[in-house]
Amino acid sequence: MTNSPQTPGLAAARLPAETIIAGFANYDPAMQPHEAAVAADRCYFCFDAPCVAACPTDIDIPLFIRQIATGTPEAAAVTILSSNILGGMCARVCPTETLCEGSCVRETAEGKPVEIGRLQRYATDVAMQSPQPFARDTATGKRVAVVGAGPSGLAAAHRLAMRGHDVTIFEARPKPGGLNEYGIAAYKATGQFALREIDWLLGIGGITLECDTALGRDVSLETLRRDFDAVFLGVGLGGVNDAGLGAPNGVLRDAVDFIAELRQTADLSALPVGRDVVVIGGGMTAVDAAVQSRLLGAENVTIVYRRGQDRMSASGHEQDHATASGVRIRTNAAPVALHRNGSGAEIEFAYTEDGPSGLQHLAETFRLPADQVLSAIGQRLSVMPDGLIVAGGKIAVTGPGRSALPGVWAGGDCTDEGEDLTVSAVAQGRDAAEDIHAWLMGKDHG
Ligand SMILES: Cc1cc2nc3c(=O)[nH]c(=O)nc-3n(C[C@H](O)[C@H](O)[C@H](O)COP(=O)(O)OP(=O)(O)OC[C@H]3O[C@@H](n4cnc5c(N)ncnc54)[C@H](O)[C@@H]3O)c2cc1C
Ligand code: SF4
Repeated sequence: MTNSPQTPGLAAARLPAETIIAGFANYDPAMQPHEAAVAADRCYFCFDAPCVAACPTDIDIPLFIRQIATGTPEAAAVTILSSNILGGMCARVCPTETLCEGSCVRETAEGKPVEIGRLQRYATDVAMQSPQPFARDTATGKRVAVVGAGPSGLAAAHRLAMRGHDVTIFEARPKPGGLNEYGIAAYKATGQFALREIDWLLGIGGITLECDTALGRDVSLETLRRDFDAVFLGVGLGGVNDAGLGAPNGVLRDAVDFIAELRQTADLSALPVGRDVVVIGGGMTAVDAAVQSRLLGAENVTIVYRRGQDRMSASGHEQDHATASGVRIRTNAAPVALHRNGSGAEIEFAYTEDGPSGLQHLAETFRLPADQVLSAIGQRLSVMPDGLIVAGGKIAVTGPGRSALPGVWAGGDCTDEGEDLTVSAVAQGRDAAEDIHAWLMGKDHG
């Protein structure tokens, strides 16, 4: 067991390396062809299918399932990818239980939906063995800057390239992918899937990727507007909210930062984790940080959320996944202080009551031992160029991603539209790209 010198309560290799590797292996394995055929046979191919209405990217689900049922998974993949170019990643990370599968008539009638997510993965895995299937339209001579190589930026870039425009993506980090590469739980996207999918997507051509180039540091919005015919901002939410417990230190850390390090660590058995880990928050990030701490070998992992369990933004399925992984969930408690001692800390919580006048901290408190505290209480914009309007801490957009600045669009988590999900970011990037295309072409002809 390796002890980290800076943080005495943390240690790597709390479990044997092979146990850690097995824990992080794909938790939802791929379907075999016969399994896919049986699953596809359960679909009623509904007219006005509710599963399609529930999909933010409007994939024609009954059509692709029929294509699988008739033994043409390549055609099924084209159906999926023409609506959602990151259909492979979405098949792995979408909360299908609240989207397509949650609306499936077989879920409503029998409590057992058609396995749409796994079928989508089956078809897209087949497609990714060949070059991406879309061709570029005749070159328009127009140039579009995309800022951010996350799901929204990549979806926008691919659709713009397809429409014949030349695209340059400016990405602040050393690698593309956004949260697909730095945030999604490691066990959902194994085998470097995010980077493989991007390589495949870029195969369309016409897209130049410039990593280590940040808007606001290396390039300004003014310059991009001058040098390109249109700009798309897909910068996500790089800033983190403050838990009010002081600056990050050897015990307190931002959960997104912890997960990013985990995603970039080649040998997970070398990654230090606490014995007693407390995660503050109630969303997907809190669940992912907690579950992955357990998989690294933390003995006691507790998620503490300030309101009731029904108000947690993590879905019931995710909450069940956390508890099945040995994570405790405590609700109606808010952190008030972090008490350091020699090798770790105790975190003090006030009980809370959620009433008509908002959330009240009660006088009674309790403490949990914690040699690692991960804060997962939400993110905010890290970049805000002049001229953009902010609503609810995000870039305000109208229609398909139009910002307040002419020639500038935005999509994904950084905007005030839709839910903060991979699939919503893809839908918004794609729709903004179509609007940019119409605008660029209209400007030429009108
Ligand atoms: C820990 C975690 C787990 C999640 N798990 C899931 C899940 O299981 N399923 C799901 O559907 N959703 C999940 N989400 C949400 C999902 O990841 C996001 O909704 C989605 O990634 C948003 O895509 P985006 O393109 O808007 O932003 P991002 O993915 O954040 O990408 C933004 C990109 O812009 C870059 N950037 C930022 N600022 C600049 C700048 N100034 N200049 C240049 N580039 C910049 C960033 O480096 C990044 O690459 C999770 C989120 C988190 C935090
Ligand atoms: S709702 Fe279910 S049964 Fe109907 S088309 Fe969609 S997946 Fe098939």
